[in-house]
Amino acid sequence: MLKFTCPYCGIVASETELSAGGEAHLKRYGPGASDEDFEEYLFLRKNPKGVHLERWRHAMGCGKWFLAARHTATLEVFGTYPAQSHEPPTEILEKIRAKYPEALR
Ligand SMILES: [Zn+2]
Repeated sequence: MLKFTCPYCGIVASETELSAGGEAHLKRYGPGASDEDFEEYLFLRKNPKGVHLERWRHAMGCGKWFLAARHTATLEVFGTYPAQSHEPPTEILEKIRAKYPEALR
């Protein structure tokens, strides 16, 4: 079973206590954006068999959104971090690069 440590309350929560929120770090473009940029923001998502950065909500706990780095095939979790982050913390990136150097390019 998939388990994440909530970065806010520190509880190790199983998948059944969480709500998935899709891909993390989506770039939202400004009012002058092209139709292609807006389409990408609204509809186009990565769906890798491999390392993925995702949004999750601790629905049955503190209720806060957080971000997680995990492998979609092995369910290996590299870490969780606050939803306000623009990119994963360095220690999470180092864990990912050590095991999957080709990921997140
Ligand atoms: Zn929590």
